[in-house]
Amino acid sequence: MTATAALDTVRIAIARACKDAGRDPSEVTLVAVSKTFEADAIEPVIAAGQRVFGENRVQEAKAKWPALMTAHADIQLHLIGPLQSNKAKEAVALFDAIHSVDRDSLCEALAKEIAAQKRAPLLFVQVNTGAEPQKAGVLPEDADAFLKKCADVYGLRISGLMCIPPAEEAPGPHFALTAKIANRNGLKFLSMGMSADFADAILLGATHVRVGSAIFGGR
Ligand SMILES: *Cc1c(COP(=O)(O)O)cnc(C)c1O
Repeated sequence: MTATAALDTVRIAIARACKDAGRDPSEVTLVAVSKTFEADAIEPVIAAGQRVFGENRVQEAKAKWPALMTAHADIQLHLIGPLQSNKAKEAVALFDAIHSVDRDSLCEALAKEIAAQKRAPLLFVQVNTGAEPQKAGVLPEDADAFLKKCADVYGLRISGLMCIPPAEEAPGPHFALTAKIANRNGLKFLSMGMSADFADAILLGATHVRVGSAIFGGR
């Protein structure tokens, strides 16, 4: 299947999940995850009307996207992978959203760059719902305090939460927990759901689904 045909299939599945959930499809943003794919693989997906893309590395995105964004001014680029504080400057300059806010040093660096560059990417706090040691994100029990600190100490406006459920577990409880934490903190956006489980995530309130291999193929 070509990427454009795959994109259509994903769009239809999103529309169906929204219908099943009784949600308006305009509430769900498809973030097409183009990591590891080159510009020539991305171009047809842009031509098919997709405008929101996700990358997990700052350096890779910097190499690939500025030219594509010059050619297509309305593209929105989301950083979905971990961010080192020393790359906050580049990240604020390049990305329209950052899904991986998860620690004080990063909050401090982001606040400084947002002020200096007068750019305010949409920010998501990543929650490590499975408490996996190898995974980034704040622990669920620390999320409320961390969110308060983002606002009170760093002056950061956080718009939502992001999670990546453990690969070997059913994702539903992780999506539900993330939604519950967002809800009690008054956060509007939920970045959750990937190729294998975006329909489940939409049923549990996802506003941003991050879909890579179902569009671009295996990596
Ligand atoms: C790679 C990646 C995705 C997309 O995964 P697929 O299974 O290919 O859809 C989503 N979120 C994050 C954080 C990723 O790194």
